[in-house]
Amino acid sequence: MPEPAQVTFASFGLAEPIQRAVSELGYVTPTPIQAQAIPVVMTGRDVMGAAQTGTGKTAGFALPILQRLLVHANTSASPARHPVRAVVLAPTRELADQIYANVREYARHTPLRTTVVFGGVDIAPQIAALRQGCEVLIATPGRLLGHVGQRTVSLGQAEIFVMDEADRMLDMGFLPDIQRIINLLPVKRQNLMFSATFSEEIRKLAASFLKHPVSIEVARRNAAADTVEQVVYRVSSVEAKRAAVARLIRERGLTQVIVFTNTKIGASRLARELERDGLNASAIHGDKSQQERLATLESFKKGEVSVLVATDVAARGLDIAELPAVINYDLPYSSEDYVHRIGRTGRAGASGVALSLMVAGNDERLHADIEKLLKRKLPVEVLEVETADRGERERPRRDHDGDFGARSGGAVSDRERAGRAGSDREGRGSPRARPAAPVDPFFYMPYVPSESAEPAETKPAAARPATGRSRRPVAVLLGGSPHK
Ligand code: AMP
Repeated sequence: MPEPAQVTFASFGLAEPIQRAVSELGYVTPTPIQAQAIPVVMTGRDVMGAAQTGTGKTAGFALPILQRLLVHANTSASPARHPVRAVVLAPTRELADQIYANVREYARHTPLRTTVVFGGVDIAPQIAALRQGCEVLIATPGRLLGHVGQRTVSLGQAEIFVMDEADRMLDMGFLPDIQRIINLLPVKRQNLMFSATFSEEIRKLAASFLKHPVSIEVARRNAAADTVEQVVYRVSSVEAKRAAVARLIRERGLTQVIVFTNTKIGASRLARELERDGLNASAIHGDKSQQERLATLESFKKGEVSVLVATDVAARGLDIAELPAVINYDLPYSSEDYVHRIGRTGRAGASGVALSLMVAGNDERLHADIEKLLKRKLPVEVLEVETADRGERERPRRDHDGDFGARSGGAVSDRERAGRAGSDREGRGSPRARPAAPVDPFFYMPYVPSESAEPAETKPAAARPATGRSRRPVAVLLGGSPHK
């Protein structure tokens, strides 16, 4: 495999209309996943790709797919001349829409047609779009089956099948739908599967439908990107964490940062407190109304909100591909979640920063679990902050013997709450705390972009870093309307 640095888009031998679109988008050097995937996919081989969103994965599979479909390209107005040739499955509306926007860009100088279908919206316009015919169909699994059931689409001529974010699709319980879709596809086809993580379940699924796949891995499994600066700050108490987060955000001049909490209530409270501290913060989690969440996400993408406080599940449903910084206000109960969280930063060669807080005498076990998974030590620094009493602030959470004790006012610690009932914690189960409440499906129904949403790259930075750390990368936040 050639080194990514030696590869250019021109060396792939993509057809002129595709190459032109790539150049117009300003892509000069292929990302590592593109350097590896494009030549392989062009040959028609199956691929099992370990790559997250934000690595340039979409072009990694879409460009060679378009190249392969060019033999079918025609300008006929007849829908019959535009049957579905490639099916791309994505777990969420948001990701499906994002892939659609990208593929349309890549295909803009070809007569190949692209359509997207996803649930949670009126099916009628999708039916109308499918009637026009499309060579590339991007879909969420449930809605695709809905269309198949209504006979508004046929997959009988599909030659290429892509499963994007396969791990997330399994997490969301799409396995039966996926299997039904696979059964609808012609046996002879090319299969591509992408996943950020490779559990046994994922490997089983891969083994069941990929044929002699070429494995492509751009980052070591369960390894955090090397471009991410990771620091763990030890604070003296739970109460010190809020001040510590505010200080880190200010000192490092973070203008777009996701702060992770383990609980919904913790997210709300922290966002409130940070706001009171003068930071532009908002929480996103399952107890917020859909409208509130959409508004918050939109504001964050536009740079109007600079600190997004989120639970793991909330963040997993967000289409935020590349971020300069994440902060773990709480160390996650599951060390895999740590990898997911910090995977938000440092993508596609950009540098990122992942800061974590650990409470002395409280979080050592979680910290050790993370280091074990990462197979490396994370530098620990002591962070001393003042914890002035602020009326509504947390009361002390630990008794002297270290147990979580009952406290006046009925306050219950987040961890205690999560451990007791799981009712406040969102997300996938972990050996330590398995959520009892069902995951709010909102987080898997990504937002409908507003007309005004623009990609953040095209906007000036909303706020300059307070302490002049302008070398920090500006987040590339994906989603929104397909940009022209
Ligand atoms: P993806 O991981 O496919 O969602 O891509 C992440 C972002 O990187 C998208 O905004 C792409 O448009 C952009 N991108 C993909 N490939 C390249 C490239 N080779 N050079 C520059 N930007 C790219």
